[in-house]
Amino acid sequence: MRDACPACGHEQALILLEGSDRLYGTTDRVFQVVECQACQLIRLHPWPSSSEVRQYYPGGYWFVPDQDAVSRLEEAYRRFVLRDHVNFVSRALRDVASDGRVLDVGCGGGLFLRMLNEKGHSVVGLDFALGAAGAAWNQNRVPSACGDLKQAPFAPESFAAVTMFHVIEHLFDPVGYLEAAHQLLRPGGRLIVQVPNAACWQFLLLGESWNGVDIPRHLINYRAHDLEILLDRCGFHVLRTKHFSLRDNPAGLASSLAPSLDPMARRIRRMPEAPGTRMAKDLAYLGLVAASVPFTLLEAACHAGSTVMIEASKKE
Ligand SMILES: [Zn+2]
Repeated sequence: MRDACPACGHEQALILLEGSDRLYGTTDRVFQVVECQACQLIRLHPWPSSSEVRQYYPGGYWFVPDQDAVSRLEEAYRRFVLRDHVNFVSRALRDVASDGRVLDVGCGGGLFLRMLNEKGHSVVGLDFALGAAGAAWNQNRVPSACGDLKQAPFAPESFAAVTMFHVIEHLFDPVGYLEAAHQLLRPGGRLIVQVPNAACWQFLLLGESWNGVDIPRHLINYRAHDLEILLDRCGFHVLRTKHFSLRDNPAGLASSLAPSLDPMARRIRRMPEAPGTRMAKDLAYLGLVAASVPFTLLEAACHAGSTVMIEASKKE
């Protein structure tokens, strides 16, 4: 018997594909990706247990620069491509009172929050990984806590905005997280959520090779429409939707086509590389990312981008 659909409870599902951990190679176990026959939500099957899932998140799952020249270049690149995210959130904050704090859930090494802070916003980070929360403070001077949003030590209605970039597709309980965010937001506060969009052309064309499926870390593969329904159910009103992100869409296509060049995957797999090889692979990857820009822009212009970012407000 199959696990029931987490959205509607229906048990019948169509198998879309099968695969294993293509990007980080943490396991050889084969999983299915299935589509609920009642509500069409796409999910991983079976869901790993919460203890099993931990082994699929190797250490160093966030970006922390070393002091060498290549890392400094990488940080400059990351700052450049993160401007989309910073601008999207800044615009949301302009429409609310701009003096409020911003909470980034799944803050990683904290570079995004540092950039938002440089624009004058007060910021706080939260991450499951102690190493990430520590790096956010040590590398980027971003105050951050380690833990679960549902038990986070923050006062209700104390944030102007809560951001979750590439978080909820990893969660066993996205509803609990979104409801926790709802309680932490002050009236009129904004939630900004970004996920891979399973209604993109890349998924149709590449199937299991599309890195947005990310077996076995992505438990639910949302289409933009699924996310809108989920947000509505959790008390949010969708205000704005964006299908292109400079950080994620072109790099996502590059990593789908050449996962062995993906810099994060190479770091996590601890591939021994001479400095020259590392530089050559970084440049090849960068070239592939640049070559991916036109296709990913076209896909997004047709509302089938490989990520979707949504700004939503609390329903009054
Ligand atoms: Zn369903």
